[in-house]
Amino acid sequence: MTDFSLDLNEDQIQIQKWVHDFAEGVVRPAAHEWDEREETPWPIIEEAAKIGLYSFDFLVQAFGDPTGLLMPVVNEELCWGDAGITLAILGSTLAVAGIAANGTPEQLFEWAPQCYGTPDDIKLGAFCVSEPDAGSDVSALKTRAVYDEANDEWVINGTKSWITNGGIAHTHVVVASVVPELGSRGQASFVVPEGTPGLSMGQKFKKMGIRASHTAEVIFDDCRVPGRCLLGGKEKLDERLARAREGKKSTSQAAMATFEATRPAVGAQALGIARAAYEYALDYSKERKTFSRPIAEHQGIAFKLADMKTRIDAARLLVWRASWMGATKKPFLAGEGSMSKLFAGETAVWVTEQAIQIMGGYGYVREHPVERWHRDSKIYTIFEGTSEIQRLVIARAVTGLHIR
Ligand SMILES: Cc1cc2nc3c(=O)[nH]c(=O)nc-3n(C[C@H](O)[C@H](O)[C@H](O)COP(=O)(O)OP(=O)(O)OC[C@H]3O[C@@H](n4cnc5c(N)ncnc54)[C@H](O)[C@@H]3O)c2cc1C
Repeated sequence: MTDFSLDLNEDQIQIQKWVHDFAEGVVRPAAHEWDEREETPWPIIEEAAKIGLYSFDFLVQAFGDPTGLLMPVVNEELCWGDAGITLAILGSTLAVAGIAANGTPEQLFEWAPQCYGTPDDIKLGAFCVSEPDAGSDVSALKTRAVYDEANDEWVINGTKSWITNGGIAHTHVVVASVVPELGSRGQASFVVPEGTPGLSMGQKFKKMGIRASHTAEVIFDDCRVPGRCLLGGKEKLDERLARAREGKKSTSQAAMATFEATRPAVGAQALGIARAAYEYALDYSKERKTFSRPIAEHQGIAFKLADMKTRIDAARLLVWRASWMGATKKPFLAGEGSMSKLFAGETAVWVTEQAIQIMGGYGYVREHPVERWHRDSKIYTIFEGTSEIQRLVIARAVTGLHIR
């Protein structure tokens, strides 16, 4: 068992510094430009690939940290640079998490590296769950996957919405309904490899924040994939469906298993934005004078800074705890993963708003990054499970009741 310590070890500190240097030297200087362009920042992803930060090997290293702390540390540092670019760099991780949660080890090592490619030939991955009529309620998915036994192929039809890297990714991981009457227990995950006919991009969304991250619809129109693209394999799926038909308890659900594993890392991203805004506002408040003194000397401003720092540190403790619990296989009996994402997401929204307030008019204009950080922070109360859904998970865990 790994003892819990809030002291990062030498390796973790080194990687934290390496990621921070990249965030400071490459990501942050590019943030404003790519926010305005609202495009995938390919040159920045290439830079990340060149130094090994955008690679399956690095993800394995980060996930393999027995303390669980490396993953949140990396997410926080990168997002401190910029959230939109971070999501462009880390968006493929969601597809890999989908493969890891539902696939066999062989499938993971076949498909996951293809979500990254090489520094000379960058590839992206996308994880497609949400649909126009099914976001929080994953059991309502309409995308269908039908087995064509004669050809050992699955035929996928449906439209996915709000997909990070959707339509521009080279590997799409899609959750589809195999037996609709079984709801979420009748779903399975599939890999749709690069160049598969029948997959196309629908509309690309223009967003409030994280605008360097591409978000679009993905359309599956008689999209045929070989039987080996079913994550986990046919035998395991048939066993799972049989259990569901008999009304036996399920151990996991395709989409939910993925989200559980990724929530603390997403919380850490929100934390990175909050920390960036706090540091910026702190520096500003020591320089800006009103009534002949730095505004930091007004108690009304100083107390805001005190509250910002307190909430950020509290959020980090929740994120680190959940990551440590995940890495050491502790059961999430009180929804600790959801708590970390809920609190960190809402902290980022609150802290970035305080930062704008501290900077007055300068906080509201694009000359300074805090208005962008506020726009970026809002997504953290929406994707990967809204704040309401996180509260639902926690409330169900602590009450033992099936709260809706
Ligand atoms: C920028 C962006 C990127 C995204 N990336 C991806 C991606 O890569 N892959 C992917 O699959 N999805 C992705 N999503 C989708 C995202 O996960 C969904 O938007 C989110 O889960 C919410 O679903 P919805 O938008 O349909 O809202 P709805 O589910 O319609 O919810 C609407 C409101 O009702 C509330 N609500 C719903 N049910 C309950 C309940 N039982 N109790 C209380 N309140 C409730 C919600 O909290 C919310 O406030 C992305 C979304 C965005 C905006």
